[in-house]
Amino acid sequence: MSIRTLYSRLAPIVAIVALVGATTGAQSRDPQAAVNAAYEHFKGLKEGKNADYIPALAKVDPNLFGIALVTVDGKVFTAGDVKTEVSIQSISKVFTMAQVIQEQGLGSVEKQIGVDATGARFNSIIAVEGVRTVVGTGAAEMNPLVNAGAISATSMVTGATSDAVWNKIIGFHNAAAGRDLRVLQDVYKSEADTNQRNQAIGALMLAYGYIKSNWQQAVDLYTRQCSIGVNARDLATMAATLAAGGKNPLTGRTVLDADKVPGVLAVMVTAGLYDDSGKWLYHTGLPAKSGVGGGLLAVSPGKFGIAVVSPPLDDAGNSVRAQRAITEISNALGGNPLAAAAR
Ligand code: GLN
Repeated sequence: MSIRTLYSRLAPIVAIVALVGATTGAQSRDPQAAVNAAYEHFKGLKEGKNADYIPALAKVDPNLFGIALVTVDGKVFTAGDVKTEVSIQSISKVFTMAQVIQEQGLGSVEKQIGVDATGARFNSIIAVEGVRTVVGTGAAEMNPLVNAGAISATSMVTGATSDAVWNKIIGFHNAAAGRDLRVLQDVYKSEADTNQRNQAIGALMLAYGYIKSNWQQAVDLYTRQCSIGVNARDLATMAATLAAGGKNPLTGRTVLDADKVPGVLAVMVTAGLYDDSGKWLYHTGLPAKSGVGGGLLAVSPGKFGIAVVSPPLDDAGNSVRAQRAITEISNALGGNPLAAAAR
């Protein structure tokens, strides 16, 4: 058989294989095809429920669904609504912690808060009581990605006034997102009116030595940082900044020193999806962070950042569609860092 005949016989088979790969997204290396496929697969999924313990979050459209993927060389792939903003909520915990690490070093957060998994829900008070026993022994056993540790991290941002501290917090978020973000005032007011539980946690953290002073200011600024408005594209850019060693791939600006990025990602691995962090890691291998506003971002180091916005949550407080879509897309693109040897 001549080469030409062989080629003409194989060509239709190659075309069919390529088409099947593109439509299923399975092991596709084309990010846009993988993003489109996940959007189609999960747009009809109705599981989960908006958070309602912050009244403003119950009013957000549960059908909102957007996916964005930003590569470390600055290519952007999207599907669905990537413009509508939701409140960032707990995803802000990553960037406020990173701000403290950037200014005060990796040891600061490790010493004052701790970097171990609590294995508890995000607003657990039992977890605070559990670590109380080791205070005074020099061992900090909290985690900056659950509320207690996050309020402590916010209290560690330095500044002479509340405004000065806030400018650093929002400035760091802006740099990671590559644009000026704003606070969604209705969400801020709604949470500030109903955050007695976080106030209790803040007071306990002061009592147990995790916060050194001014716990009320820390709780207020934490509440404000949780109300920053972001869309799926912003969150994917923030994730891509971490994937690219701390340099925002869309602006070229260094936000976090490269040698500090692995520590930040490690904390995301330990508690990014709270008590479901292990299950998430088992399926994806990705450092990630969720928020009760419906956002979820994940980092494939050296490859891409990805984010989904979809408000309905599961029992652990993580977006249902976001978990499903990111898992499918990342696995299709070979994003799991723990699977490196399998490739
Ligand atoms: N602002 C929210 C709270 O403190 C954040 C929680 C979350 O996103 N998991 O309860």
